[in-house]
Amino acid sequence: MFEKVLIANRGEIALRIHRACKEMGIRTVAVHSTADADAMHVRLADESVCIGPPRVTDSYLNKAAILSAATISGADAIHPGYGFLAENADFADMVEEHGFTFIGPSPQHLRLMGDKIKAKEAAAAAGLPVVPGSDGAVTSADDALAIAERLGYPVIVKASAGGGGRGMKLAMTKEELPGALKLASSEALAGFGNGEVYLEKYLLKPRHIEVQVIADSYGNACHLGERDCSLQRRHQKVVEEAPSPALNAELRAQIGKVATDAVKALGYRSVGTIEFLYEDGKFYFMEMNTRLQVEHPVTEMITGFDVVRQMVRIAAGAPLGYQQEAVQFRGHAIECRINAENPETFTPSPGRIGDYHPPGGLGVRVDSALYAGYKIPPYYDSMIAKLIVHGANRNECLMRLRRALDEYVIGGIETTIPLHQRLMAAPEFINGTYDIHWLERFVAKDV
Ligand code: ADP
Repeated sequence: MFEKVLIANRGEIALRIHRACKEMGIRTVAVHSTADADAMHVRLADESVCIGPPRVTDSYLNKAAILSAATISGADAIHPGYGFLAENADFADMVEEHGFTFIGPSPQHLRLMGDKIKAKEAAAAAGLPVVPGSDGAVTSADDALAIAERLGYPVIVKASAGGGGRGMKLAMTKEELPGALKLASSEALAGFGNGEVYLEKYLLKPRHIEVQVIADSYGNACHLGERDCSLQRRHQKVVEEAPSPALNAELRAQIGKVATDAVKALGYRSVGTIEFLYEDGKFYFMEMNTRLQVEHPVTEMITGFDVVRQMVRIAAGAPLGYQQEAVQFRGHAIECRINAENPETFTPSPGRIGDYHPPGGLGVRVDSALYAGYKIPPYYDSMIAKLIVHGANRNECLMRLRRALDEYVIGGIETTIPLHQRLMAAPEFINGTYDIHWLERFVAKDV
């Protein structure tokens, strides 16, 4: 096992990884920008190294600075968390070249799944059903028009290098398609340095259902069930739950098996997530996330598995050590992502936290690096806390979540807690009939 792990991230996920390492008897090294000198992950880690100024390109994305920090601190492995360098194959290569272990998948898998066109081809070859679309990249508006005619409108233009909801443009009609192509391509070129785009049929009322998979270096793999992440705003997840209210036991077992078989066929190692759209009883592969996900706690709450610990163990060369039958699902879990934002306009609201009182009690978990007096810097993502609640069933989980949201005090700034309170009282959420487009209408007070 590793003796010392460097955590190349910040905020709640840095803390989450620190906690898993401590429980495994591993020492931790935090890295931080000058804006994060007071951050909780820095305070709790055994050691910390300042890696640069606030701008992420100078700090959390600064590969050389992070590798230097690993060298001077004598770490044996690097955990990238999510975002930043987590899915950067070049970084994973560099980590290995410098003699450290990258706690994640192989660079080849990062590279494969980072290219959405190649990922879709590999997924289809591994037996996953995919969203109908173009065969590879579309290179001209004429080609795109012909393909879209065949698929039927609406269609969505996606950037091969896209991510985080960026580089996607919808075309409802053929008149809109040339413009959508241009926009998606130029957005992708500016954002990711690669303007390659492809087409997909745009599903009108799908749910976003993803399967958490886990595989070791010896060909063993299993799944830890699904998560329903259909509540999204601007293609960003806002609430996640497990199990999905849309699936029955049969469909759950079926998609879990399909995902596990695909992971084995791909020769994948580490934890990962296979994302599907689900509509009218059918699943369509969208992409595979080759990292720890923000929403992994809902899976932990219903399985009792520590996903981060599993990820570290596997990176250290341990075998999975259990089979699918060992994974038992218990009750229901829901996660609310709480952002430092105005709950109506979503304008970021960084600043100093006044009073701070996180909720507690049976089945309530808060993953957050906040504390009273902490000053949220304006440079980073606005997610400041994840409230995760577990109940014996969905109804108990919902009642507990409402209670926990009412208890949560985060003074001094604006947060999206009121949005979550409103959501948890909405009939469509309560009866579980929402699809991926519903939250946008709910936010616009259109439902
Ligand atoms: P990213 O990598 O940027 O997150 P994804 O391909 O995962 O992009 O898509 C993000 C979200 O966009 C999905 O969760 C879903 O809400 C929506 N989406 C993507 N593809 C389609 C599609 N073909 N039809 C309908 N919605 C889609």
